[in-house]
Amino acid sequence: MREIIEIEIRDINNQGNGVGELDNLVYFVEKGVLGEICKAEVTKKKKNYALAKKIETVKESPYAEKPKCKYFGECSGCSLQNVNYKAQIELKKKAVKEKLERLADEKIENLEIISMENPYNYRNKIELKVNDNSKLGYYGRNTHRHVEIDECIIASEAINNVIPKIQEILDKYKIPGYRHRTNDGIIKNITIRGNYAGEIQLTITFAKNRFRNQNGFLDNLKEISEISQIYVSINDKKRDENMGEKVTLIYEKNIFIDKIGEYKFIISPKSFFQINMVNTEKLYQEAINQMKSEKNEKILDLYSGIGTIPIFISKNVKKIDGVEIVRDAVKDAKQNMAINMIQNVNIETGKSEENIQKLIENNDYTTVIVDPPRKGLDEIVIENISNSSIKKVEYISCDPATLARDIKLFKQNGFKLSQIKACDMFPQTVHVECIVLLQR
Ligand code: SAH
Repeated sequence: MREIIEIEIRDINNQGNGVGELDNLVYFVEKGVLGEICKAEVTKKKKNYALAKKIETVKESPYAEKPKCKYFGECSGCSLQNVNYKAQIELKKKAVKEKLERLADEKIENLEIISMENPYNYRNKIELKVNDNSKLGYYGRNTHRHVEIDECIIASEAINNVIPKIQEILDKYKIPGYRHRTNDGIIKNITIRGNYAGEIQLTITFAKNRFRNQNGFLDNLKEISEISQIYVSINDKKRDENMGEKVTLIYEKNIFIDKIGEYKFIISPKSFFQINMVNTEKLYQEAINQMKSEKNEKILDLYSGIGTIPIFISKNVKKIDGVEIVRDAVKDAKQNMAINMIQNVNIETGKSEENIQKLIENNDYTTVIVDPPRKGLDEIVIENISNSSIKKVEYISCDPATLARDIKLFKQNGFKLSQIKACDMFPQTVHVECIVLLQR
């Protein structure tokens, strides 16, 4: 029998679903809008939670806003476009506070958050998929369902300028996308990166080495005026649609370089680079403000990427050592030191959890900066820091839940949460970045 409930949506979870409570049971409501009361059909009921699907709105949300994107609802990338930006910001503050209180036993009264003046057109990189009919689009969250798009309003204007141009060439040569289910088709991934100057770095991952119309297709792409570099990558692994092991530069008009503040960065396709064109500088600046480093300090930067943070603090301190797992990123970092004329930074290839002990033993670091992926820090990293003479930990996190878990461990090892600020690096989505200082 169908069970229909009426429920108020008080929160949005990480998957973008509405969250509400009824008779002491938490419901996750697909398509539920923050702040509304809606009717929903229950699809699954477990002991401590239930799933439901919204049928209709009963009382409209006070925060409701008409989504700007014509693909909203179909494309699951921006799950918050239907609430106003102010409500998005409040939601993110609440999410950070709630996680810190529940998982780290920290009650934060006033959490400041760095927001955006224009919460659109901020992304400098998108990854598109191609369907059977050679149409560009996104996959839905956790699915291989293709949603055709010809623009993405959170991506930079430069990226939006080239989407139709790439589409035209795909249509002309009729190159089909890779099909997960049947393991056929050609294009696995098209990654478009834009920079401050409106130039584009294009990386295409193919399922095979040779295909019909290959040369014509690639030659035509080179004629797109905004494109400064084209890389190709082959990934013939079944069901894996990421860039292959190797990326090969097949066309270069000029080196692709992006800027943050006064610094320039060479970024190769496999290297991580913060995706928000405006708030990245503010994020780094906040970390620097919190650390208050002195000229004689030696700093360890774990999860360094292409060396962005070390470059940003290089003039304030004596020396910075870094560790980064992606080889190409370390190569970029070396070049970035050279083009920015920085001599007191050294980044090595390796895993933070494996290299930290030796680095700490041989150096007298005063501060460690960590900026890990969503899964947060390995316990060994926290242990090594705690057993050293390091006094300050500057933690930049893109997942408040793992951040809170790690703060708890640091606290058990004698550190105190000293400063915290959030930063909205991902407007229209539920994600939020945090910048935290822990001290002994
Ligand atoms: N601080 C950089 C990069 C942050 S993203 C910036 O702001 O640009 C996290 C980085 O950690 C990525 O470059 C990723 O390749 C790297 N990484 C992931 N796991 C790692 C590990 N176990 N050890 C070292 N680096 C790792």
